[in-house]
Amino acid sequence: MIKLNRRIAALKPSATMAAEARATELKAAGVDVISLAAGEPDFDTPERIKQAARTAMAEGLTKYTPVGGLMKLRQAIAAKLKRDNGLDYEPAEIVVSAGGKQASANLIACLFDEGDEVIIPTPAWVSFVAMVQLAGATPVLVPCAEEHNFLLTPSDLRKAITPRTRGIILNSPSNPTGAVYGAEELKALAQVLRETEIWVMVDDVYEHIVYDGLAPHLFKIDPSLKTHGIIFNSVSKTYAMTGWRVGFAAGPREAIAAVVRLQGQNSGNANSIAQAAATEAYAGPQDEVAEMVAEFHARRDLVVERVRKLPGFSLPNVPRGAFYAFPNVSALLGRKWKGQPIGDGNRLSEFILEEARVSVVGGNDFGAPNYVRLSYATSRQNLVNAFDRIGAALAKLE
Ligand code: PLP
Repeated sequence: MIKLNRRIAALKPSATMAAEARATELKAAGVDVISLAAGEPDFDTPERIKQAARTAMAEGLTKYTPVGGLMKLRQAIAAKLKRDNGLDYEPAEIVVSAGGKQASANLIACLFDEGDEVIIPTPAWVSFVAMVQLAGATPVLVPCAEEHNFLLTPSDLRKAITPRTRGIILNSPSNPTGAVYGAEELKALAQVLRETEIWVMVDDVYEHIVYDGLAPHLFKIDPSLKTHGIIFNSVSKTYAMTGWRVGFAAGPREAIAAVVRLQGQNSGNANSIAQAAATEAYAGPQDEVAEMVAEFHARRDLVVERVRKLPGFSLPNVPRGAFYAFPNVSALLGRKWKGQPIGDGNRLSEFILEEARVSVVGGNDFGAPNYVRLSYATSRQNLVNAFDRIGAALAKLE
């Protein structure tokens, strides 16, 4: 066996990507699988954005760009932050990366050292923990109760802060729960955070996929947090552009300059054509976003209704954003399949894949093994068929 770098050797594959890859593999082998595992909109990128990419190619935008991103794009992001979030940022406070994922991983790599603790309220997106560990720092998982709609409470936050705490990562709307912080909840968290100097990182990638009006922004609610605050975002979910790989981080200049130095050594700029497309995405007319969200909204309602009818699935909170439902499946975990108790969400997702031919993601890697994540980034017909199949398969549990 070859010897790998210690941190890489400990790195697990992304559970969501693994589930999606398994569904794709089965489909390629001719198995009729319905995927409720996707972490990306099923819509195509709007035509105006594709056209901007064609124009960029035709005009020869095919060379390296500045490492931190085209000035035009960073200006468009600054204007977007003002328009959508009411926040003021200069282009020098913004770095463009290959997706929100690279932006957050690079920022985390730049800010934290061994011995530093980074608070991650769970259930949380699978990659945050890995990013913090890759930086050599220690993720501190803080479970958030379903009774509190999976939102971090100020008292749990206070309890989690130690002299070693250097950062916190908040994600609203949340992958995997669909929970969204309201203004009052953010105000209460801000009260605790403003007494600290820890890095407050907010992941806004699902900000526009909300069903009760735009999600308030923590830094708008408390602008003082901007001095130790970082925003991660990307065009992936809002504009159905996951494959283009453009995201950004915004924050204090020194932190952003550090990311530019890191990218300058290990990857360089995000794809130039995709940057031109992202510029159009942010600067052009925003009408398609509302159309996509209206469709997600109708699917959300359908999913909530159908999940609540599945025996053993419980979904007390209606997801208010993103395109996931995260039902509690504790009631099924003692039931048996192939003579063995199901045990956890991952095993239940294996059962659902094998017996219902529906791909879902177990909650284990989100820090919540009593749950499964269902993505509704697929057609309503697929959703109806998937729930029919899951319902029929559940009858096979002993
Ligand atoms: N943050 C969250 C919470 C996500 O769910 C994802 C993708 O699934 C990302 C960030 C990163 O997305 P991207 O790298 O495509 O911008």
